[in-house]
Amino acid sequence: MSLLEVEDLAIHFGGVKAVDGVSFAVEAGEVFSIIGPNGAGKSTIFNLISRLYKPTRGKIMFDGRDITPLQAHEIAPLGLARTFQNIELFDHSTVLDNLLMGRHTHRSTNWVQDMLFVPAVRRAERAHRRKVEDVIEFLELEAYRDKLIAGLPYGVRKVVEIGRALAVGPKLILLDEPASGLSVEESQEVAYWIEDMRRDMGLTVLMVEHDMSLVTQVSDRVLAVANGQPLAQGSPAEVQSDPRVMAAYLGT
Ligand code: ADP
Ligand code: MG
Repeated sequence: MSLLEVEDLAIHFGGVKAVDGVSFAVEAGEVFSIIGPNGAGKSTIFNLISRLYKPTRGKIMFDGRDITPLQAHEIAPLGLARTFQNIELFDHSTVLDNLLMGRHTHRSTNWVQDMLFVPAVRRAERAHRRKVEDVIEFLELEAYRDKLIAGLPYGVRKVVEIGRALAVGPKLILLDEPASGLSVEESQEVAYWIEDMRRDMGLTVLMVEHDMSLVTQVSDRVLAVANGQPLAQGSPAEVQSDPRVMAAYLGT
C-alpha cells in the first residue's frame, strides 16, 4: 500500500477546473515531485490534500486511511505536514516560537491540565522543545533561533517555513516551491536537506517545484500537470523528454 494515494481528484471554482481528474500514489520513502506551468493546479492539489479545500470529486488516502472527509486541523496529527508557496509564518514572533507553534498542532493535554500545569504538561512541553531544537539544528538555524521572522532574509524565512512543517514530526512532508526566489546556492542547500530528510529522518517528500535541476536531482518520480490535468508521469528524465510536457512548457 502506498503512503499517499490520490484518486481522480477534482475541484472546480465556478467554471474554472483548477484540478480535473488527477491520480497518483506516493510510496513511503520516496521523493515525488509535481511540475507544471503557472496556474496548472499544483498548489490547489496541495490545498486539497491538506484539506483546506473540499474536492468536487475524488478520494485521498493517507497511511491506509481515507482522509477526504477530515478537517484541515485533523491532518497534521496523522503525520502529514506542508509548507506554503507564500511563506506563512508569524512575522512578529521568533524562529523558535514559530516552530513551537507548528508543534502545538500536536496537543496531548487539555486546558484544565494546562491551568494546573501538571507534570504531564511539563513533559509534553519538554518533548515539544526537544523536537524543535532538533529541527533548528538539522536546518542549521541556530544563529536565527531567537530572531524575529520580520527581520530575516527571504532565504532564511524559506528555510524556517520548512522547519515549521518538520516540527510537526511528519511521515509525509508537502513542499510547495521550496526553492522559489532562492539563489542557485540556496536551492542546492534545499536539495541537500531534502536528501537528508529522506535518509536521516525517514521522511517521504511530495514537492511542487519549478526549478527543474532541483526536481531532477532529488526526485524518484515526477508527475507533470497542465490545466488541472495530468500530462505524464515517470522518472525525471522520462517526464522531461515527454512531448506533451515539452509542448505545455513551450506553449505550443
Ligand atoms: P499553480 O500552483 O500550479 O501555479 P494553482 O493551483 O495556484 O496553480 O491555481 C490553479 C488554478 O486554480 C488557477 O487558475 C487559479 O486561479 C485557480 N484557483 C486556485 N485557488 C482558487 C480559489 N480559491 N478560488 C478560485 N480560483 C482558484
Ligand atoms: Mg502554486
